[in-house]
Amino acid sequence: KTLSDKFLDGLAKVCDTEARKLQGKPQVLHVIRFIKVFIEENPLCICADEISAVKRLLTGDNDEVKLKQKTSEIVVKGHQEQYFINFRVYVPDNYPLAQIVPEITQHNFPAFLHIHFQAQAVEIARRCVQPPLKKNPKDPPFVPSPSLQPTCEYLIECLKKYPLELCQLCHERALPVNPVNESAKKGKHSVEKIYCGHMFHLICLHKYMKTPPFAGGKLCPTCGKQIFHDKWKISSEVMETRWAHKQARQRELEEVVDFME
Ligand SMILES: [Zn+2]
Ligand SMILES: [Zn+2]
Repeated sequence: KTLSDKFLDGLAKVCDTEARKLQGKPQVLHVIRFIKVFIEENPLCICADEISAVKRLLTGDNDEVKLKQKTSEIVVKGHQEQYFINFRVYVPDNYPLAQIVPEITQHNFPAFLHIHFQAQAVEIARRCVQPPLKKNPKDPPFVPSPSLQPTCEYLIECLKKYPLELCQLCHERALPVNPVNESAKKGKHSVEKIYCGHMFHLICLHKYMKTPPFAGGKLCPTCGKQIFHDKWKISSEVMETRWAHKQARQRELEEVVDFME
């Protein structure tokens, strides 16, 4: 294990104070015992620098980063406008060789985003300590790296970014400014994140998917990637036919209206 210079400086100062108390008496054993107990009681000192970096990312009045040395956990509460995420991270004994365990404990984001955030956070932590499955022979040998900071940074970035994300079709905020609970989601409150990662209101996406051109499949208007979604597995030909039918029906209706007039 390697401890940061800043932490070691601090520890040296505390030891100095301890030793001073015992001036005129044997001090070496006492100080060694003091260090041993201190490190055992403060397992999070292994990631002191990473914790400082995470704290710097959270500057809101209600944000907090709490250390639970007894359980080797970090508890984070972050806010962005009306949205919040609380998560805790367990730092294992053999950190940084073993990965941290992140867990979102409370939030007010839509459920599909929560699942996405949680899964990605675990994946980021895993990639820090496990070599990639497909090895590129040109890559240098894999060395595990600390996983706490990148994982926390990811979750905090999600918290800061998603409430401000726009619907790529109507260019209004995708998530409602005031978070609503799942059961109350209607109309624009229903949000979809598609394959490319862009966000859309469900009603905007529905309209877009049903409007031509269909040739070559529907593309994300922002990044040009094909829109893949479980809800739209139908091919562009089917879309084309459906649209043609709808247009024909519309024409018939208009003809009837003309005739009546
Ligand atoms: Zn929209
Ligand atoms: Zn896109």
